[in-house]
Amino acid sequence: MTKSISEILEQTEFSKEDIVQLLQSDDKEQQVIFAKANEIKKEYVGLKTYYRGLVEFSNYCTKNCYYCGIRAGNKEVVRYDLSDDQILEAVQYAHKNKYASVVFQSGERSDEAFILRIEELLRKVKETTNNEIGITLSLGEQSLETYQKWFNAGAHRYLLRIETTNKELYYKIHPHNKKHNFESRIQALYDLKRAGYQTGTGVMIALPFQTYEDLANDLLFFKNFDIDMVGMGPYIEHHDTPLYEFRDKLMPLKDRFYLSLRMISILRIMMKDINIAAATALQAIDPIGREKAIKAGANIIMPNITPSHNRVNYQLYENKPCIDEGADDCTNCLEARIAMTGDTVAYGEWGDSTHFKNRTKNI
Ligand code: SAM
Ligand code: SF4
Repeated sequence: MTKSISEILEQTEFSKEDIVQLLQSDDKEQQVIFAKANEIKKEYVGLKTYYRGLVEFSNYCTKNCYYCGIRAGNKEVVRYDLSDDQILEAVQYAHKNKYASVVFQSGERSDEAFILRIEELLRKVKETTNNEIGITLSLGEQSLETYQKWFNAGAHRYLLRIETTNKELYYKIHPHNKKHNFESRIQALYDLKRAGYQTGTGVMIALPFQTYEDLANDLLFFKNFDIDMVGMGPYIEHHDTPLYEFRDKLMPLKDRFYLSLRMISILRIMMKDINIAAATALQAIDPIGREKAIKAGANIIMPNITPSHNRVNYQLYENKPCIDEGADDCTNCLEARIAMTGDTVAYGEWGDSTHFKNRTKNI
């Protein structure tokens, strides 16, 4: 006998089959899931949204992920690399506006010059903000030694999406070579934990060839890995990428959007005290997509504070939001929109993962 959505939600643990059923729920049923996730969020982490000022400081990348608009093989992209001063200016903006944390994101490089530059930059950020800014990095796969170096220089959270936990699918969306290796990506997550970071991962949702079972396995992977933070959002095609060829296999954007919200809600119910980001890609589909994710269980928003003239060149996918707006334009009404979800913005608070605090308190 099949269970109802409400019956599943009353359980303390979900099986893979339960998750698949939750993921396939209809419009009415998903409202029950969203409400339950919001309730759990209120109880375990509070109805608070934390800001992370996102600085996409460079689109140079040595990798060739088949889905990404800034992949090395895309010759149509104008490459840029912000100066340290430009990055520090964006950090000052975040600091002044009480964002409390920033995320540094770029294409993947692991040459010595890059490693050293980041190390020095991190120290400068800490110095110029009186140690008051929390720093998350999202700079791809690096060696344990590099992760440790950057941790010692002041970064304390790291986001590295596994992209999908289905190995076969992983190699449908990446080349299969030394630079793109499924096991190495998993190892990198272990290395991040070992280096002491609040460790974050995530997946793209509604990729071509991806099944509901794959997504259920992704959520179970987060749980078994005991992850501290998750950032996941819809896959959105980009015309200058190899995966564009399979665009006719994709769900309509609206379905990808709501499937992403269900993923967020189910994860909030499964992992009550982690940090969950409302991915920017949600905003590319719905102008208030991130706010809808906040209401469905997410508690982190990453307002883009990259100097606006560079944003046009950091197009991972089509229709990326706010590429022609300055930071002010993007953040002006954000607070009001978040208030409409029932959350308050936690200005001036780092918003570290409660899960991380709980899992490390006896170490
Ligand atoms: N280079 C680093 C890495 O890959 O981990 C960090 C930057 S990368 C642009 C950040 C994330 O963007 C990736 O983990 C991927 O999930 C996401 N992304 C790239 N292309 C995308 C697309 N077409 N649709 C949705 N998300 C995409
Ligand atoms: Fe480079 Fe990251 Fe894009 Fe892959 S997802 S091509 S590593 S920027």
